[in-house]
Amino acid sequence: TTVKLHDSSLFQTHCYVAGQWVNAADGAALPVTNPANGEVIAHVPSLGESETLAAIEAAEQAQKAWKTLTAKARSAVLRNWYQLILDNTDDLATILTTEQGKPLAEAKGEIAYAASFIEWFAEEAKRTYGEVIPSHKPDARIVVSREPIGVVGAITPWNFPAAMITRKCGPAFAAGCAVVLKPAPETPLTALALALLAERAGIPAGLFSVLTGDAVAIGGALTRSKTVKKISFTGSTAIGKLLMEQSAHSVKKLSLELGGNAPFIVFDDADLDAAIDGVMVAKFRNAGQTCVCANRLYVHDAVYDAFVDKLIERVAALKVADGFEPGATIGPLINASAVAKVQSHIDDALAKGATKRFGQTPLAGSGFFPPHILTNVTDDMRVAHEETFGPLAAIFRFSSDDEVIARANNTDSGLAAYAYTRSLKRAWYVSEALESGMVGINEGLISTEVAPFGGVKESGLGREGARQGIEDYLETKYVLMGGL
Ligand code: ADP
Repeated sequence: TTVKLHDSSLFQTHCYVAGQWVNAADGAALPVTNPANGEVIAHVPSLGESETLAAIEAAEQAQKAWKTLTAKARSAVLRNWYQLILDNTDDLATILTTEQGKPLAEAKGEIAYAASFIEWFAEEAKRTYGEVIPSHKPDARIVVSREPIGVVGAITPWNFPAAMITRKCGPAFAAGCAVVLKPAPETPLTALALALLAERAGIPAGLFSVLTGDAVAIGGALTRSKTVKKISFTGSTAIGKLLMEQSAHSVKKLSLELGGNAPFIVFDDADLDAAIDGVMVAKFRNAGQTCVCANRLYVHDAVYDAFVDKLIERVAALKVADGFEPGATIGPLINASAVAKVQSHIDDALAKGATKRFGQTPLAGSGFFPPHILTNVTDDMRVAHEETFGPLAAIFRFSSDDEVIARANNTDSGLAAYAYTRSLKRAWYVSEALESGMVGINEGLISTEVAPFGGVKESGLGREGARQGIEDYLETKYVLMGGL
């Protein structure tokens, strides 16, 4: 396949290691495929431990110089990167849709979202204030300053191939850190194009490396290294736990954005049309492949039937198609195991008594999964406890506030939650009672660079975006200045 770009140099298939664009020494390479048709788009290098160690060493050197720049100087480089990402939106979105599948309009939206983190942290770079604390001794002063953590190992997923990278790199570079990144094997081309733009923007050689290849070898080298002071990971809960274990021996700091199982609660006093608008975004964006996707729709008895009827009407208008087809709203799922997982949740629910109200059976061997609506879904079904990560709307029934809160919280995850109500009292009660890092009240889209994104419970550690996003890349240093 040829991917048509305005600037064909953005189609980068070498890795960026220690400031050099490289192939594997032995020529080993991994295919990248288009999930819409299974065609191989490109091959990228299969790198491992030795290249990771080289990247870490270069990162350590580059970071020493980078952290001594003024915040304003670092900010200017980030600002350049932001502008280059925006200027190349069409090409980046084309690469993204080709390797990830999401509709082109959504891919362009992701590029704007990805760029927004670089802009935001270019601004925050200048505001990593410390403080002076009134001293406990008359002849001493207490000064608290913020220092960059150092070299960061970043590992990112395929569902947002651009934004999950910029929301780590933005704050890291702003704070004065270096980053060694391993993008998802499904979506390396977006990552490499971003690295090329970072180089053009003036990110110094070595400060940012991007390595594709053996996840176990690269992840192992990053976690074993004593030079790497922090791991920032977005992905599955299982791999997050593994990286946490591997990071224990050198007591690394961790930022983990892991799986969710978001409840989406529609109370009987909700504006149903608003709730339908919300669920269309919260459930079907990216074909349901986001960690904040509504996984469990709890709808009050009194409005259950009306809600289902309205939802069927809206879902029927979705267009399942190749992301490059005009008007496509649902692209392919990322791979065959994603398709199998959604199907298994549907089969399990139907076997346990759920009703299929909408949904065509996917064509055998196709990467496309038509949206489904199941009603009479109950808490004993797999979809109640596992993230589906696909276009399945599973609708549970409830009848009281306390009941639905207890059921919504009955999960090890705690990332996003949504609730629709016109009552201010109920909105406050619910938003405080839900065990999640983020709550959307009468809103189905909560992601923005200006707000802290992150979870509680097994959904992770730390926050990305907002003022809090840069905190995750800073250490606190306290100096007691005595003998004054
Ligand atoms: P998913 O199942 O959605 O792909 P993963 O958690 O497996 O989620 O993948 C997220 C990222 O973690 C990807 O970049 C993947 O390559 C990486 N990864 C997977 N296994 C490991 C591992 N053992 N060590 C380090 N990174 C890993």
